[in-house]
Amino acid sequence: MATYATYSYDVLVIGAGGAGLRAVIEAADAGVSVGLICKSLLGKAHTVMAEGGMAAAMAHNDDRDSWKVHFADTMRGGQYINNWRMAELHAKEAPDRVRELEGWGAVFDRTPDGRINQRNFGGHRYPRLAHVGDRTGLELIRTLQDHAVYKGMTVHMEHTVIELILDNGRAAGVVAYDRERGRFHVFQAKAIVLATGGLGRAYRITSNSWEGTGDGHALAYRAGAELIDMEFIQFHPTGMVWPPSVRGILVTEGVRGEGGVLKNSEGRRFMFDDIPDNYKPQTASDAEEGWRYTQGDKSARRPPELLTRDHVARCINREVKAGRGSPHGGVFLDIAWIKEKIKDSEGHIKRKLPSMYHQFKELADLDITSEAMEVGPTTHYVMGGIRVDADTQMSTIPGLFAAGECASGINGANRLGGNSLSDLIVFGKRAGEYAARWSRENGAARVDESTVQKAIADSLAPFERGESGENPYKVQSDLQDTMQALVGIVRTESEMQEALRRIQQFKARAARVGVSGHREYHAGWHTALDLRNLLTVSEAVTRSAIERKESRGGHFREDYPDKVADFGAVNIMVKQGRGDELQLSRVPLPPMPDPLKQVIEEQKS
Ligand SMILES: Cc1cc2nc3c(=O)[nH]c(=O)nc-3n(C[C@H](O)[C@H](O)[C@H](O)COP(=O)(O)OP(=O)(O)OC[C@H]3O[C@@H](n4cnc5c(N)ncnc54)[C@H](O)[C@@H]3O)c2cc1C
Repeated sequence: MATYATYSYDVLVIGAGGAGLRAVIEAADAGVSVGLICKSLLGKAHTVMAEGGMAAAMAHNDDRDSWKVHFADTMRGGQYINNWRMAELHAKEAPDRVRELEGWGAVFDRTPDGRINQRNFGGHRYPRLAHVGDRTGLELIRTLQDHAVYKGMTVHMEHTVIELILDNGRAAGVVAYDRERGRFHVFQAKAIVLATGGLGRAYRITSNSWEGTGDGHALAYRAGAELIDMEFIQFHPTGMVWPPSVRGILVTEGVRGEGGVLKNSEGRRFMFDDIPDNYKPQTASDAEEGWRYTQGDKSARRPPELLTRDHVARCINREVKAGRGSPHGGVFLDIAWIKEKIKDSEGHIKRKLPSMYHQFKELADLDITSEAMEVGPTTHYVMGGIRVDADTQMSTIPGLFAAGECASGINGANRLGGNSLSDLIVFGKRAGEYAARWSRENGAARVDESTVQKAIADSLAPFERGESGENPYKVQSDLQDTMQALVGIVRTESEMQEALRRIQQFKARAARVGVSGHREYHAGWHTALDLRNLLTVSEAVTRSAIERKESRGGHFREDYPDKVADFGAVNIMVKQGRGDELQLSRVPLPPMPDPLKQVIEEQKS
């Protein structure tokens, strides 16, 4: 029988990104005991990479902004299949959550009159992103981490959760192993908050850190929770494309927010060629108007480079396919051109986009103050995730909560840039608050010993197969190639059916993976364990994408290029069936209250 260490908490938070840390603060503030588990070191979660900012309608840079405009922008961006209640709560509460961060020591960039400065971003009608240069995630993590330590928590760093344990249908605990020594740990908890982030590592080209293997999605799914909107993957339009070793690394939308323009190999600003009807009234009619918008002219409309990410990514894809791409398979993003408009443009760009300047200088030997960058789409964010109650963030499993990127609802078919960081602090807080309340109202649940032993035995099976087993890296790599090629930006039924066929083969191969050696810091073993999650989420994405026979937001089907009204009234939901097969259904959207409908109508012009 395997041995393990045990721990017990009122609230157990899995994930130390923005959502997890904000949940910790709220739960600790409620006076319950809080444990935090994360795969990497504290402060290193994926959130630290966030660049452009967090969206909150504080109206500092444009007094026409309000929660109503933010709400309408979010719903339009999500093509109206968002959970309207989450979009409402998010728009209303984000300003307070940002001000709260400031009170805890976050040092935001400032307007000339000393208020938090807000920048333009795609799909946001007014400048709305509170930011710290292009290193906003670092400041967010630093602030939340300091405050969480002050409030009191016990941290288990470099631990990976491999199984969620239920007791009579409610969350009871988790099994984890520490990555350094490979020893097992069992955590009992009255309430569990999943805040495990995204799943970009299912794709070959991604901006996501190594942690993004869809663990929370898969853990919840295997425990019986419902996932929705899994077909909606966000391909960010601007990732680096050259050199190959850095392909996929993000180039923040802040570059376009500061006046950067997209051009094809013919030097044409192709984004002016394709402006969707529902965005026409808000989009600049020429380059001059677009530039004035980026410089804060309230009478100007935004340039087409700041249309939603799904649209910009598809336009880039089209240019490349039509043979008008850059030498390395992207297009050109030019911020250097602003020297025509700004005297000290070099200093200005370095001040506004310090990380981008260094990123290109160090990684591509390119000076963005004098040359155009080469960029192309990169897998960036998953709109889909664990289905939660909007107010409490509890999943369909009692006592299991989810917040941040692994939860779903707020973004619908497409997330607006900047809405994730504000989502983390709004819904991280709510998850922590309601998890603490649940832990007070419900006693401890029992962790079943045989379930623990089975989870441990399953996780050690790759050692028994040893070197004669399949290579886990190879299976992971083949899966990434398949998802990239067959379930990417432009999808068709036949390609996705082929992806499904291959996923079944990868599952069979994953069941045979083998590793040898000690358990201590064994990257091959870690990959073998991640594989199960990557396969689960890849299948969920592919099957949901096949089911949605239309194009909407981040999901574009070449064989069904238009929106279909019936699909505009449902979310696609997946759940594990009794025989472990994936069950799929269409869940009707709840009706939106009239006052919110009116807000959307008012903001349509
Ligand atoms: C380069 C880049 C720039 C971005 N810029 C912006 C931006 O400017 N504005 C914006 O709004 N959004 C931005 N985003 C998106 C945003 O950063 C993410 O959506 C967000 O940070 C996710 O936060 P999270 O708290 O949900 O999870 P994460 O920050 O991803 O944290 C997940 C945590 O869960 C832990 N974890 C995962 N699995 C397990 C497991 N099995 N066991 C234990 N722990 C586990 C991880 O170790 C980690 O601590 C950006 C994303 C990228 C990649």
